[in-house]
Amino acid sequence: MKKVGFIGLGNMGLPMAANLLKAGIEIDAFDISKESLQVAKKLGMNVKDNPDGVLENVDALITMLPSDDAVKDVFIDGDILEKLDRKVLVIESSTISPSLAKTVAEKGVLNEISVLDAPVSGGVKGAELGTLTFIVGGKKSDLEKASFLFDIMGDKTFYAGGPGSGQIAKLCNNMLLAIHMSGTAEVIAMGVNNGLDPETLSEIMRNSSGGNWSLEKYNPFPGVMEGVPASNNYIGGFLNALMLKDLRLAEELSDQSKSDTPMGKLAKKLYEQLNDQGLADLDFSSIQKNYLK
Ligand code: NAD
Repeated sequence: MKKVGFIGLGNMGLPMAANLLKAGIEIDAFDISKESLQVAKKLGMNVKDNPDGVLENVDALITMLPSDDAVKDVFIDGDILEKLDRKVLVIESSTISPSLAKTVAEKGVLNEISVLDAPVSGGVKGAELGTLTFIVGGKKSDLEKASFLFDIMGDKTFYAGGPGSGQIAKLCNNMLLAIHMSGTAEVIAMGVNNGLDPETLSEIMRNSSGGNWSLEKYNPFPGVMEGVPASNNYIGGFLNALMLKDLRLAEELSDQSKSDTPMGKLAKKLYEQLNDQGLADLDFSSIQKNYLK
């Protein structure tokens, strides 16, 4: 694999593309943000001033966009699949609705182009360190062709099933993440309000039946864990705005499939409140703020 086209050079896309570049792959890059393109240029990527610019002579195209609207803009209105060479493999890594992921894959079939939905877990740190987890939907044989790229940008790749399945698994995961983060935040606060030390309580629960990823890797209480957003005024990390976007997509999926998700709906309400409080740009563990006295 010699050259990759990359669209969407934000917090996640830029370090992902940078890791491919470091591995010796030429990158043709496009973003609507001029600032992102400047940084990409400094890193050594070939920057283009429109999405069509990244479609020529590439072996694969990766997109890492913020929302369904941005993906529609590129794939549906921009019709890039009609302009791509048939051998090119497309990896759509944004977190979007499974139905849109399926529509993009169907458009791929019409143009004889293989499209994988491959949302990621692992955050900005994982993107920088090349330790992302890719959750992939599409044809298994296409995943095998793309594994070389997944292995550079991440350290785990899971096959979830046919087109859209990567997005379904990602939304299930993020709904659960919101539930255990908000639950973790409220119980640490309850312990502290009753005289316990937050670090001691976290350690007890982490090693007991309440143990979960938030306690293990991402403690929401300020000062309990080093190197997490909670110990840096909740700056950086995975923003409340993105968590709310994912919870909305998850609720849509739950409603469409007539699934009962009372905890997920409640978590969405809590994250809506956080966003309404003006905290959209803080990390999602800042839900702890609502329980601090
Ligand atoms: P971001 O907002 O930092 O970056 C998105 C980039 O896409 C921006 O640079 C923006 O200018 C660009 N863009 C928007 N519309 C475009 C268009 N039509 N054409 C070209 N470029 C366009 O977002 P991010 O944090 O990098 O997240 C990207 C995706 O990854 C999202 O779907 C998000 O849910 C998902 N994700 C994010 C994290 C995280 O921790 N940030 C973790 C896992 C998954």
